[in-house]
Amino acid sequence: MQIAERTVASFHYTLTNDAGDVLDSSDGREPLAYLHGAGNIVPGLEREMAGHVAGDRFSVDVAPEEGYGSYIDELVQIVPRESFNGVDDLAVGMQFQAQTGQGPIAVIVTDIEGDEVTVDGNHPLAGETLHFAVEVTEVRAASDEEIRHGHVHGAGGHHH
Ligand code: ZN
Repeated sequence: MQIAERTVASFHYTLTNDAGDVLDSSDGREPLAYLHGAGNIVPGLEREMAGHVAGDRFSVDVAPEEGYGSYIDELVQIVPRESFNGVDDLAVGMQFQAQTGQGPIAVIVTDIEGDEVTVDGNHPLAGETLHFAVEVTEVRAASDEEIRHGHVHGAGGHHH
């Protein structure tokens, strides 16, 4: 069976950046399972998965625009420390939900200088070209329920 709309594909992957550093990998874990065509994985990878079958090994390079997006300077903001009232031990690396005109976004604290706290709403991999080494392990038909929910159930997916 080929990967196409209404199929669930499972795959092992290693994700590296331009410098060759491993950013993420399914090594030592179950393969990642996703519902093809539902936007469960980054668009540039999903497109290249189409047509592959179990056993295929290939590499995919994904530009930021088709990965986690370009790095947007405007998503970096300095806010007063008093915005974090009630947070004990505010530290670089902590993540928060920020309310914006476009709805809530996840931000990470990247710097603290006195009363000024710098937060960054970019995805940690924004601006990175993504290099995936992929091995497809299984392709199966999606269930009607999975298609309704827009995600995979069972092994490697949602349990509910
Ligand atoms: Zn579900």
